[in-house]
Amino acid sequence: SIKVQRRKLDKSRAHFKEAVQHLPLGVSSNFRFWGEDETVFVKHGKGARLWDLDGNEYIDYRLGYGPAILGHCHPEVDAAAREGQSVGTVFALGTEKEVTVAKLIKEMMPAADLVRFSNSGTEAVMAALRLARGYTGKDNYVTFEGSYHGLFDATMWTADPEDMKDQSKDPKVIPYGQGIPQLVRNLFYQVPYNDAQRLEDVLKKHHDSIAAVLIEPILGNCCGIPSKPEFIKAVRALCTKYNVIMIVDEVKTGFRVGRGGAQALYGIEADIFTVAKAVANGYPISAIGGKEEIMRKYGKGVAHGGTYTAQAMSLAAAEKTLTILRDTDALEVIANYGKAMQEGMHKVLTKRGIPHSFTGHHSMSGLFFSAEAPTTYRNWKLSDYTFYDTMAGYLIDMGVMCEPDSREPWFISSAHDQKCLDETLQKFEEAVDLTLDE
Ligand code: PMP
Repeated sequence: SIKVQRRKLDKSRAHFKEAVQHLPLGVSSNFRFWGEDETVFVKHGKGARLWDLDGNEYIDYRLGYGPAILGHCHPEVDAAAREGQSVGTVFALGTEKEVTVAKLIKEMMPAADLVRFSNSGTEAVMAALRLARGYTGKDNYVTFEGSYHGLFDATMWTADPEDMKDQSKDPKVIPYGQGIPQLVRNLFYQVPYNDAQRLEDVLKKHHDSIAAVLIEPILGNCCGIPSKPEFIKAVRALCTKYNVIMIVDEVKTGFRVGRGGAQALYGIEADIFTVAKAVANGYPISAIGGKEEIMRKYGKGVAHGGTYTAQAMSLAAAEKTLTILRDTDALEVIANYGKAMQEGMHKVLTKRGIPHSFTGHHSMSGLFFSAEAPTTYRNWKLSDYTFYDTMAGYLIDMGVMCEPDSREPWFISSAHDQKCLDETLQKFEEAVDLTLDE
């Protein structure tokens, strides 16, 4: 939680008092509730910045958990979205732009023989898992500790941090809260990240009942722990060896860590992959892509659809966003900014003798206060992140909107410029000193 509050939040606090009478916790996602006095409400965003109800200005390193890759209110994307929706929104029939955007995804992403659209990351991963099950005729699947794949019952499970003290045994796997049936636990195996041997142990024994291995190439909801290249390559090889579908969840990494997502970065090809956040700069759309034979199962018995799939506004925004990402140096600008930010932070922390490391990719990286970066959920969860939490509280208070609890990485957009960088590093230095003084 954010302990230090020096900026004025009177209007956000007053709004919270009203909001909580109409919305549980006063918000539309549990993660947006930061406490009764600390929950921030946004007035508007522009480029790399956002403003809250009290007029406080922030450099935004959350970008709605990643989508606003070109910055908030991008004029060309917004104009395209307006134009797209001017013909109507949904028709329960297909439109021409589906093909335009599918072609862009096929051109940019590996392993995309065919594409289907959905609205959110959750929906895309649900659809991918069903497709894998339908194609293989098997029900079970494998996930990795520390991953997040969306809000549905099949994936809302995590290794219990309370049960990690004894490193000689695997922690219990528990649901992310109530309302998730225990029966679902019988359908999946959860193994430690970056440990191909443990995956092979499971696949060797149980591959006859396992449809898919579901993997985030970079754990984007666990401070950005990246796959070791040899690990993700081994996952690919093991899936092939044991005849199991490899689903690569690129909801966060797709069109962010490179034009071809993490698959191109690591030189692997999924059987099925999902993309969402960066596809349309924040307009709701996601896609499932994959190998032709598997994707054709949609015409042979596997259900997929939805009232809002491939609606006109998001498709038009996706066409514009993907074209910009393909044809400009936006992704290079983003990666260079991330690199320069890490170098600046490294200087500040080294000067003060503070051990630290960075995780993830320059476009979505985690800052970790230990000389050695975590490689699994277990060593991240067992580490002391109070320094980060305190520092993040100061930073937000000063107008650098980073993730408050070190769970999510810092996201960069192409709208982050030199002025943002200088301001961020100056405030970072101040926040580190304030944290040291505590
Ligand atoms: N998969 C991954 C890797 C994600 O990061 C997320 C969202 N953080 C999801 C799936 C779910 O996406 P959505 O919130 O759009 O449903």
